[in-house]
Amino acid sequence: MARKRRPTRTELREGILQGDRIVLSKAITIIESQHPEDQALGASLLDDLLPHTGGSIRIGVTGVPGVGKSTFIEAFGMFLSQHGKKVAVLSIDPSSTISSGSILGDKSRMTELAQARNAYIRPSPTGMSLGGVAHATRETILLCEAAGYDTTIVETVGVGQSETMVKEMVDFFLLLMLAGGGDELQGIKRGIMEMADALVINKADGQNVDPAKHAAEAYRGALHLFPPKESGWTVPVSTCSSLEGRDIETIWQSILEYVDTTQGNGYFSLNRNEQVLSWFKDAARQRIIDELLGDRTIHQSLGQLEQRVADRQLSVRGALSMITKEAWLQH
Ligand code: GDP
Repeated sequence: MARKRRPTRTELREGILQGDRIVLSKAITIIESQHPEDQALGASLLDDLLPHTGGSIRIGVTGVPGVGKSTFIEAFGMFLSQHGKKVAVLSIDPSSTISSGSILGDKSRMTELAQARNAYIRPSPTGMSLGGVAHATRETILLCEAAGYDTTIVETVGVGQSETMVKEMVDFFLLLMLAGGGDELQGIKRGIMEMADALVINKADGQNVDPAKHAAEAYRGALHLFPPKESGWTVPVSTCSSLEGRDIETIWQSILEYVDTTQGNGYFSLNRNEQVLSWFKDAARQRIIDELLGDRTIHQSLGQLEQRVADRQLSVRGALSMITKEAWLQH
């Protein structure tokens, strides 16, 4: 089938600024594309839209598979949407980088929210490196903001590097947990707890209400042992039932309080500045590497060095000493 006509820069810009979801989806597909024309169009579009970005509260949600992330996001998103918020839900799924199988990707998730008029759900892009997914998701956040979404939720699974990536693109990072039997801290990576701005024990319903409360107590105790946060924020630990939609509002109140506190002490904008700068530095480094390796002469020279190292004619150190700015950039 022939490819549909690529929308123009103006059509995309105007459509997004009017909050048109179909145009927004097309724009996201363009920024996810590797096609050179799409990349050029994506770059000019993002430049056009930059003044209209930054206006959402960016919230990361993580937790192990089965903790209830999609049930929570559905309940939370519906709550927000019923309170007049425009909610965009994006996800970073490390398993979607491999073509087969995906942890977050099944289509039946968040069916109610998917129908809500002021909600927009976009699954993790597939077939990209995890770094590529993170890059595209950051740009997708910007596009959603330009389209008027005031709350962005980025979901990730509690495995691999994806939490750190999401933490680096959001204002507020929420860790969903379960009341475990016995040792409450078992199985939770300390590093992830340290990243969290709120801990929420989900499934606090039925028989599980008391265990959830006890788990919350245990986590509160554990958090005391962590160093104070740079944001000046004290991490709340609460319980909720996503299935019954209980105590969802408390979580939203915490987020508003966090925004208030960090906007007051300057951390909110400091963090955003650091995030965008570190995104740029990483992406610039990657671009420089790609550009150099894409150069035929450099590619050939590297191939020759590899051969000589493999044949033990050159040590790794010796080969590295031949990779100098003079030798590699003067042509
Ligand atoms: P995810 O893998 O983290 O996205 O988890 P899901 O949202 O798919 O939930 C996993 C299972 O837990 C499903 O069967 C949900 O119905 C159930 N679940 C999610 N939240 C709650 C809750 O608050 N209470 C109870 N009892 N079950 C829940």
